Amino acid sequence: MKKIVFLVVIFFAFFANAQNNPYQPEREKINDLIHTKLKVDFNFEKSQLNGEAWITLTPHFYPINKVTLDAKAFKINEVKVNNTKAAFNYSDNELTIELGKNYKKGEEYTVYINYIARPEEVTQKGSANIKEAKGLYFIDPKEEDPEKPTQVWTQGETEASSCWFPTIDAPNQKTSQEIYMTVPEKFVTLSNGTLESQTSNNNGTRTDYWKMDEKHAPYLFFMGVGEFSIINDSWNGKKVDYYVEPEYASVAKDIFGNTPEMITFFSDLTGIQYPWDKYSQIVVRDYVSGAMENTTAVVHAENAQQKKGQLIDNNEWEGTIAHELFHHWFGDLVTTESWANLTVNESFATYSVYLWYEYKYGKDKAAAHMYEDIQTYLESESEDKILVRFNYHDKEDMFDTVSYHKGNAILHMLRDVLGDAAFFQGLQKYLNDHKFGTAEAHELRLALEKVSGKDLNWFFNQWYYGSGHIKATVTYDYNTINKTVTVNINQQEKTFTFPLSIDIYEENGKTSHNVWVDNTQNSFTFPINKMPKLINIDAKHVLLAEFTENKTLDNFIFQFNNAPHYLDRRLALEEIVKHQKDNKEALNTVVKAFNDPYYEIRVFALDNLDLFQKYNKRDIIAKVEKLAQNDEKTLVRAAAIGVLGKLVEPIYKPLFERGFESESYALIGSSLTSLYQIDKEATIAKINSLSADIKESLADAITTIYIQEKDKTKLPFIANHVLKGMFLTQNPRTQQVYGEAFKWIAESDNKEAIENLTNDFVKLGLQYKKYNFDKMAINMLNQIVYMQQQTTNTNKEELIVILKTGMAKLIE
Ligand SMILES: [Zn+2]
Repeated sequence: MKKIVFLVVIFFAFFANAQNNPYQPEREKINDLIHTKLKVDFNFEKSQLNGEAWITLTPHFYPINKVTLDAKAFKINEVKVNNTKAAFNYSDNELTIELGKNYKKGEEYTVYINYIARPEEVTQKGSANIKEAKGLYFIDPKEEDPEKPTQVWTQGETEASSCWFPTIDAPNQKTSQEIYMTVPEKFVTLSNGTLESQTSNNNGTRTDYWKMDEKHAPYLFFMGVGEFSIINDSWNGKKVDYYVEPEYASVAKDIFGNTPEMITFFSDLTGIQYPWDKYSQIVVRDYVSGAMENTTAVVHAENAQQKKGQLIDNNEWEGTIAHELFHHWFGDLVTTESWANLTVNESFATYSVYLWYEYKYGKDKAAAHMYEDIQTYLESESEDKILVRFNYHDKEDMFDTVSYHKGNAILHMLRDVLGDAAFFQGLQKYLNDHKFGTAEAHELRLALEKVSGKDLNWFFNQWYYGSGHIKATVTYDYNTINKTVTVNINQQEKTFTFPLSIDIYEENGKTSHNVWVDNTQNSFTFPINKMPKLINIDAKHVLLAEFTENKTLDNFIFQFNNAPHYLDRRLALEEIVKHQKDNKEALNTVVKAFNDPYYEIRVFALDNLDLFQKYNKRDIIAKVEKLAQNDEKTLVRAAAIGVLGKLVEPIYKPLFERGFESESYALIGSSLTSLYQIDKEATIAKINSLSADIKESLADAITTIYIQEKDKTKLPFIANHVLKGMFLTQNPRTQQVYGEAFKWIAESDNKEAIENLTNDFVKLGLQYKKYNFDKMAINMLNQIVYMQQQTTNTNKEELIVILKTGMAKLIE
């Protein structure tokens, strides 16, 4: 599963209580699933599913005479065992069936259940009040909302597939499957495996028969129903399909078109050819997470559907596409045996984005992505959380930045410790040994040890079964008589063991050293000729570490110019931009970064360029103009136009107006913002001429302008975007703009804006309930009520009623 990163970070930090959590073992295996056959149709009027299930099982080891299945909020009509009516007990979301005799291991039996699934009535076990994940979701089932297509889709992870079919809903079970789905003729369907047949029932409905012979875990079952365009692609003769809303059919391949190449890449990398029948991806409305790796039927949230103008700038969803695909090896083929070991699914899926970027776009993009992931972990205050965590409050808590981002950084370190060949061959062995089965993290260690011949307990004990990360201060002692430098590494809080790469740069070249750090205080002495220009600690940038060093500006400038890694340049530049006002060399280095081979460095330099310094800026501006017109990346051109806008020079008006002719939304957005500085009326006229559709996509730029305009009539538009801008973007500047907008709306007397904001709170609160967004939403609505009470708004009583009605919907 791919989560909504920003929300996870914020809310897990608020609600996490790491201590005193119960031990959460792997589910005991009493019976093993073998095969699941389902016949279902949908009651759109009641948001229910009518189902028949044939579940074939066998005892895991000990003889048994009954079986207990998970079945949440069902109405059970009939139960049979091997075609004979059977006694059963159904209570507290569990269906226990008497088998009528003892079955031994290896002896198979089939239970038949005729049932109605009622997802709207699902509650947590033992509690009638606490709503749980529904498993089966009906979107606008009665076709009441003209803005929304009618859809049905499912979300199994973690244990919600048992909301729509009876099963043993644990990740350590595996079953093959057949599903007969009867739907209105106008809908298409998607499920796991292959579509074997479609039969018209001559009553306006059709029955689609989907079948998958390979076994997978119940949480990976999927059904999707709706009016989708299906765009066909292929890989090695296997079907690769993209299900999108008809409006996006023409860009489906711009969004998903790298999928076949990714399948080839991951097949080659793991040494295991893509092991499933087909690969489909579907984009659904109101999805409750980011995306989900249902075997051969991946679901994506609607953010995946981007416009051409966004895709020209950057396909924001490409990483998620890689993530879900790589789960088809790590997660779907070899599945975590328990949620405590979730890392064997999620750290690999997260690391796949690095691997794909490294292969497809080069090391800079991969490193930039890894840097963001590590920042997400560091900002989450998760240092006390262990990667393989057997003590947790709720299984959903495992889907956090530790399982995802930290796990990903740990794999990157492990790859460095072992070397590429041993690392990837070890993964191949792990996958081969456990394919169509389950594993825990120790089995990963054993496979890597077998292949490499190395002991890895030290690594796994500190990174998989211990918490935190490396924190150390670095100091240097120079000895001019002996011509040596001693590098001192002093670890704080915890003592980690790790290999460390150190590059020492002198006037004419560098020397690279590898040392082993295993004490709290460590000193390493190296020969030097002269005072080094730079000592680069963790020169390979592979460690999950925070080093505190005292580098000078000269060191950083040297580092930017000479050290090869993306982070050498990026981290140096972060410091150098702080000195450009009064240091010519610093300013020159920022300008030099305009020519960096990697576009994110160019954008960073432009975004942070200070033109209000004491040096001559004519040459610099000429360079910015060039970038604004010629850079191959639209994001760089947009950033350059942003710089020129700050100059408030009417001569740039034609350049900004040309920006509007571009297809790139980034260019149009930044041209609007820049034109606004020199011609407010023309900008507003331009905004008014844009279609509602493009306005939606340019909401960030337009909101920035509306805020400056202080135009109250635009508050309803801003209110529609403010929560997304505050919580679902990762750009701090965007967050700040919307933070201001939020305050403006909260204090305003604009009824439509308050209504829009409240509705958005309710929508996102319910949608992202499992990230505690509902609690956060109630809290914030409450704050707005308080803010309104302090105002002199004449209609504040009416506005407070709107806010409180929203809060009530979230508490329901
Ligand atoms: Zn995932």
